[in-house]
Amino acid sequence: MNRGTHEVTNVVTELQDYNVYLTDIALRDGVRRAGGAALEAELSAYGARLGSGETLRMAEEANHFKPELHTFDRQGRRIDRVEFHPAWHGVMRMAREQNLVSQPFSDPRPGAWAAYAAGFSMHGQVEAGSQCPNSMTFACIPVLQKEPALFEQLRDKLYSRTYDPRDIPLEQKTSILVGMGMTEKQGGSDVRANTTRAVPLSGDGRGGEYEITGHKWFFSAPMCDAHLVVARTENGLSCFFVPRYRPDGSKNAIHIQRLKDKIGNRSNSSSEVEFDGAWGRMIGEEGRGIPTIIEMATYTRLNCVMGSAGLIRQAVVQAIHYARHRQAFGKHLAEQPLMRNVLVDMALESEAATQTMMRLTQAFALAGEDPLQRAYQRIVTPAAKLWVAKRSIELSAEAMEVFGGNGYMDEGPMGRLYRETPVISIWEGSGNVMALDMMRAISREPDAMRALLDDLAPCCADDARLRPHLAQLADCLRRAGDDVEFLARRYARQLVLLVQARLLREYAPAEIADAFIASRFDAQWGGVFGMLPEGVNVGAVLERAWPV
Ligand SMILES: Cc1cc2nc3c(=O)[nH]c(=O)nc-3n(C[C@H](O)[C@H](O)[C@H](O)COP(=O)(O)OP(=O)(O)OC[C@H]3O[C@@H](n4cnc5c(N)ncnc54)[C@H](O)[C@@H]3O)c2cc1C
Repeated sequence: MNRGTHEVTNVVTELQDYNVYLTDIALRDGVRRAGGAALEAELSAYGARLGSGETLRMAEEANHFKPELHTFDRQGRRIDRVEFHPAWHGVMRMAREQNLVSQPFSDPRPGAWAAYAAGFSMHGQVEAGSQCPNSMTFACIPVLQKEPALFEQLRDKLYSRTYDPRDIPLEQKTSILVGMGMTEKQGGSDVRANTTRAVPLSGDGRGGEYEITGHKWFFSAPMCDAHLVVARTENGLSCFFVPRYRPDGSKNAIHIQRLKDKIGNRSNSSSEVEFDGAWGRMIGEEGRGIPTIIEMATYTRLNCVMGSAGLIRQAVVQAIHYARHRQAFGKHLAEQPLMRNVLVDMALESEAATQTMMRLTQAFALAGEDPLQRAYQRIVTPAAKLWVAKRSIELSAEAMEVFGGNGYMDEGPMGRLYRETPVISIWEGSGNVMALDMMRAISREPDAMRALLDDLAPCCADDARLRPHLAQLADCLRRAGDDVEFLARRYARQLVLLVQARLLREYAPAEIADAFIASRFDAQWGGVFGMLPEGVNVGAVLERAWPV
């Protein structure tokens, strides 16, 4: 007999069937500003598809049913194949059909970079694991473009909008994915420590064929059709294009040892591999392997900013939605003054992250010799990769807390978001490495740094809170040595906060820029959310953040 122990009340229905694009005002503004109005219809359709209950369920399944490694076939032959749940292929297909693997290169219309950033970050809000292979493939395009003969064979397959997951030689495929292999057991940040060896098979140097022996300790998306791999020849570290199948159609000797057991990013497979005389073709100059592959990393770092901005956005949307529907002490949480402080503070962070991502994307779109664009590309990108990723870790924990105990349960959306944030801070250059990279770029490109300081100056000129920070930043241009390394994270934070203040002043409503500056440049600001001073126009900020 059902005794009717209780009625279920005051619980929040999960957010679904909403348009991820149309509800994001800052993102839409950014796309239009970059000249992408003509691309908005497609973005809106993608936003609706991403926010549908069907896609959200697919994303959940892709993470619940983890990829499995099959090392041998039934007869004992090596196959080194990773099997995925159909949901993984579903999210990968969506991204490919949206052109999230090559858009700015294959369809370089006005606004293409901005539309790519919008699509990429929206996709990551819903399913972040699939960003990894798609981002690596995107980032290898500028590197491969410099190898005309090889690129000629690959271009159509890289630019294709059809998803082809078949495990067959790349010559037979309609579209391909390309990963990267640098990190070895003894070191990831310091790629110079790589020990994997490459011996020439036919002719040496750029374009030559090599046999590669060694290992990689992190080798994500091993089902990619090829990887760009760093290995050592007699003349130093070089970069190689290493396909899954040799040109004669036989399986290349890339042995997957095991899949990584990761804290998050579970839909995506990451592996450890050994190369047992694997076939590879040298790309870039011999002995210049690090600069060759670092060009790829420049683009993946931009994608990291997009990924973190997307996770921040999704966490904020989830938190505001929850707080608008859950009641405590006789009011909706979103009406409780202290909760409003938390929510609005997170909304400021999200707007700042979105504006940063769109500005960086513009710099990549306008790439060339212009010192200001170079500054955004070379100096601000690593700093933003550090800072936006760090903020996403803190913010996703805070957004989880808005859900109370329900937030900590793995059934809901917050656990996956939370677990996804730290990996963006770690891979493609961890936080410290990014701060040091920024310092190196400042000292190598003083003209670009000066252009950046000039760009920030008008915003700071009439604001006594910002002026000292700009002066300190200018000072780091004059200093060198270990004491500056010790302070590199401080400088990175200062740089990104000033850039964000400047972008918000120009592109966001005044109440957002004012509240951002009043908090982030307050001497007492500790980074914990919900510490905004009085006087913030909470209603306006929350309305813009989630106008639903
Ligand atoms: C899920 C996942 C997938 C990955 N996929 C790939 C992949 O597909 N291909 C690939 O090549 N790599 C991959 N990586 C590896 C990743 O890029 C490295 O883990 C990362 O670059 C750090 O290298 P490391 O782990 O060897 O740490 P270390 O290099 O040992 O660094 C440890 C810490 O020390 C800091 N540090 C290093 N040098 C300095 C310094 N001079 N001053 C101050 N601090 C310093 C770093 O910031 C870091 O916090 C993946 C990693 C993860 C977690």
